Amino acid sequence: MKQTYSFDDVLLIPQYSEIESRGQIDISNSLNDKISLALPVISSPMDTVTEDQMAVAIHRSGGLGVIHRYMTIEAQSKSVFDAYRAGTHNVAAAIGMAGDFLERAVDLVDAGANILCVDVAHGHHTMMKNCLDVLKNKFGSQVHIMAGNVATLEAFEDLASWGADSIRVGIGGGSICSTRIVSGHGVPTLQSIIDCAQSTSNAKIIADGGIKTSGDMVKALAAGADFVMVGSILAGTNETPGQIFTRGNGKKYKVYRGMASSAAQNTWRGKTSTPEGVSTTVPFKGSVVNVFKDMAGGLRSGLSYSGCRSINELQAKARFVLQSFAGQNESNTHILWRNK
Ligand code: IMP
Repeated sequence: MKQTYSFDDVLLIPQYSEIESRGQIDISNSLNDKISLALPVISSPMDTVTEDQMAVAIHRSGGLGVIHRYMTIEAQSKSVFDAYRAGTHNVAAAIGMAGDFLERAVDLVDAGANILCVDVAHGHHTMMKNCLDVLKNKFGSQVHIMAGNVATLEAFEDLASWGADSIRVGIGGGSICSTRIVSGHGVPTLQSIIDCAQSTSNAKIIADGGIKTSGDMVKALAAGADFVMVGSILAGTNETPGQIFTRGNGKKYKVYRGMASSAAQNTWRGKTSTPEGVSTTVPFKGSVVNVFKDMAGGLRSGLSYSGCRSINELQAKARFVLQSFAGQNESNTHILWRNK
């Protein structure tokens, strides 16, 4: 049986650096020759993460928002249009791979989306092949097609050959995900990235699920991801959909939930089949702008410790080591644990 690794199993070895200022470090990356992101971060298509407000805010910080699909075609198209009107050049919107996906896709593109994300839990599927065929026939190269999720190199190669321009890599690793508990299936996200990075296709790798910190982002990029997709890191900010509520302790919170949780399923289809996610509350974090500033700072710091000026250079030079359980403890801010 193959040994697999997740983010906390590894560290990057600090390397000789000639970089005198972090201003010399470029953390941008390109989805294709027309779409480049100054911050290689994409927000998850979830109903507690991305609608137009998040799409606008992440765009202004250099990243990309994927507006979720768990609403009517009209409501999602309006959200796309509002983001586009607000001056967002790159607007991504999620669709499914069955039912009204083509009708939805056409309306979203009319409303201003230039990126469509075929957003399904198990993307290595015959219906995905059909869906990508239909989308490529309809839009050609006019629209960038993101698809997923996948966990293996075989799946990555198949989706790339079926027409996906970028692929979300990671199954079962999301902070609100219970897929591995319910189904016994999945692969640690870092391992999936390492495996998919062997691909010879031009499809971009979007690491998705289980990224908790900017350190995890640096590890994902170093392992071969071109971009990272995040949900929980953005959850609880002002720009996510949903109400802020105050508990008895006077502290403010927002809901963050998996799209396959009972709560989310009840909202979007009025019933629940076996949940593969959970719903929880997270402390209110204020504006997401500060979260993006910290992310950009953390990414630059990460590249500088490896002595690299760009993501490409990081992927070529990065050296990973495994860390023991004692090493993992040492890597945490352990005084906080000791004093508990
Ligand atoms: P996080 O950044 O660790 O919170 O993970 C976010 C990712 O979890 C999303 O981008 C999706 O790929 C995935 N996800 C969202 N909802 C669910 C769910 O209900 N079950 C399993 N995975 C989910």
